Amino acid sequence: MMDKQELKDLKKLVRNPSSKENKSECNRCMTCCAKGGPALHQADKHLIESGKLNGRFLYTIRKGEPAQDNVKGGLIHTDTDIIKIKSKETSDICLYADINNSSCSIYNDRPLECRVLKCWDTREIEDLYQKERLTRQDIIGHIEGLSDLVEEHQEKCSFQRIIQLLESNSGKLEGGALSELLEIVQFDISIRKLVVEKTGTDKAYLPFLFGIPLQNILKKLGIELKKRNPDQERSDIQG
Ligand code: SF4
Repeated sequence: MMDKQELKDLKKLVRNPSSKENKSECNRCMTCCAKGGPALHQADKHLIESGKLNGRFLYTIRKGEPAQDNVKGGLIHTDTDIIKIKSKETSDICLYADINNSSCSIYNDRPLECRVLKCWDTREIEDLYQKERLTRQDIIGHIEGLSDLVEEHQEKCSFQRIIQLLESNSGKLEGGALSELLEIVQFDISIRKLVVEKTGTDKAYLPFLFGIPLQNILKKLGIELKKRNPDQERSDIQG
């Protein structure tokens, strides 16, 4: 929901209340909502089960994925799924936020982190943010077939293996490591296509089911995929 700098700013406000109105309750200033949607916890499961939160509006930071630690700072490899509410396109603003009207379209059913976060005192959110995170299997574990596909994807597109490949040959992507990485990326692309084509699943669910496309994650790490020609699915990787 917040990055390290944002948390620091909030802490400064606590120490220096004169710099801003000394708040004691949320007045929907939307500062938090403009910095990204919350991560979900076990306490939020009922929101999905009741349809108040829809999988189309969620995405998953997969177990093992390099991610920013919002509190301690720096990159960590997550030890569990982190399911988050998507942001609006081209911004960090939570999908459910209406900044101009200072409103949240699911305010009465907002997730735990949103209810706990007080921008004038971050202690409660710091205590909570890593506890009892909701995972994909908590939500789809009972859907036979889909649950297995998600597990298979998690296994074949393991971040542990991807990082090993990226770090092999002193970080020079070539030979067997390059071929294996291409196969992993191809699997990530294919499984998304398969689920949409064979089951009619709305594409908007894919970031929740299979996380952010691997190509996008690799791009953020400075590794770009280039198609050899339009007829070939297989791509070259440029580090
Ligand atoms: S769910 Fe609502 S309260 Fe929570 S970050 Fe989004 S807009 Fe803000």
